[in-house]
Amino acid sequence: MRSEYPLIFERSREGRRAYDLPVLDVPEADELLPSGMINDAKLNLPEIAEVDLVRHYTNLSRRNFGVDNGFYPLGSCTMKYNPKINEEVATLFNDLHPLADQSMAQGALDMMLHLDQCLCEITGMDKFTLQPAAGAHGEFTGLMIIKAYHEMKQDFGRTTIIVPDAAHGTNPASATMAGFKIKEIKSAPDGSVDLDALRAAVGPDTAGLMLTNPSTLGLFERNIREVADIVHTAGGLLYYDGANLNAIMGIVRPGDMGFDVMHINLHKTFSTPHGGGGPGSGPVGVKKELIPYLPYPVILASHGGPAMLDYDRPLSIGKVKSFYGNFSVMVKAYAYIMSLGGKGLREASENAVLNANYLLHNLKDTFGVPHDRICMHECVIEPGELLEHGIHTTDIAKALIDRGYHPMTIYFPLIVHEAMMIEPTETESRETLDEFIFNMKDIARIARENPEAIHQCPVNTPVGRPDEVMAARKPVVKYEG
Ligand SMILES: *Cc1c(COP(=O)(O)O)cnc(C)c1O
Repeated sequence: MRSEYPLIFERSREGRRAYDLPVLDVPEADELLPSGMINDAKLNLPEIAEVDLVRHYTNLSRRNFGVDNGFYPLGSCTMKYNPKINEEVATLFNDLHPLADQSMAQGALDMMLHLDQCLCEITGMDKFTLQPAAGAHGEFTGLMIIKAYHEMKQDFGRTTIIVPDAAHGTNPASATMAGFKIKEIKSAPDGSVDLDALRAAVGPDTAGLMLTNPSTLGLFERNIREVADIVHTAGGLLYYDGANLNAIMGIVRPGDMGFDVMHINLHKTFSTPHGGGGPGSGPVGVKKELIPYLPYPVILASHGGPAMLDYDRPLSIGKVKSFYGNFSVMVKAYAYIMSLGGKGLREASENAVLNANYLLHNLKDTFGVPHDRICMHECVIEPGELLEHGIHTTDIAKALIDRGYHPMTIYFPLIVHEAMMIEPTETESRETLDEFIFNMKDIARIARENPEAIHQCPVNTPVGRPDEVMAARKPVVKYEG
């Protein structure tokens, strides 16, 4: 591998240059620096010609897979195409310093305030904080707000968060981080929350319930009103994991379903490129009675005057991120919302749901389907009878790589044996979906006729099948030149 992809330092040849500085046309002035501060040592920098430099990074970038390369149906991640204009709009704010005085940053504050109002309109909540840097960070922030609310009411016994087993894995993790105990409840056979199990789980120790909706099965919670009533009657609050808002924009609102706190992943639904660790943004929205607990500063409109940052928040849970959050992600989300408008957002959701159901409908005779219901923006299938040929989910994913696809999410949700979770998003055309369906069926055909050929996949990549346990437990992160 190394000979094929040498490091830039290995390409270095003394004297090569990728730049050409103009001739000095002012007197040299090195005596301005005290001699003790001048570094005479040769710097260990690669010396390389421009053409080799360009090829080096271009070729490296081609070893990556992104939405701009091809179809990327990674369930639960909403890898939709990100219009380039959003990136361009984000650069408009490049010169703004986070420590600039409020009076100098009115455009940015106005944008943040309006984004907050747009998110309220989309979700039915009353106020958002834009500070959290990701979905899981938003969950943590929302749970701290729930905690502060109960403590303010001197209700110190509410120490448990109820989490259905179809929730995203971050839900119980965030609740544990926030100092709560977790009570897990099993799903009913149709994938919904089991209401009897929920009734049995609530009590005076219930701080709240976290609901991932659509659930990780890609299903809309059928009994959402009853779920909300049961938890509220028991004195708990309702947390909506809205990381995947892509199925419901402009159609239903968590605020109208009775939810008190929620987060949104701007980097999923609202079109910021993500994967590889960020930057993201996980705004948290709350109903009116929880506004005092939001992280400070809170952005307020001052009746026709400038927007302002309010730091005087005695009940606030505190700051959860430096400055105001990942600002460029907010700009991209704002540009996306403004360019689509309310009607466009609704159409995006309708098409996301249509595309997922199109895939489900066309794949369900070839593969297994754990819950044969209309799905939301993503669907979950299983290998079905291919298991009898020794073909597992991982084999199907590896075979997709050879055909130029990023595989779907595999082995998640955990409650489905051998799960494959496919999220096409609304930005994919009918032709792309048909080609994917063809390839999935073709993989299944080969799997039945010659399973060994599928076990060999991928054969077109620099690395085939690494030992995944070793790769996770003992990763080699240091380059041995
Ligand atoms: C992605 C996701 C999260 C976590 O979001 P991060 O930004 O990765 O922290 C939480 N819940 C659901 C349902 C998700 O899909």
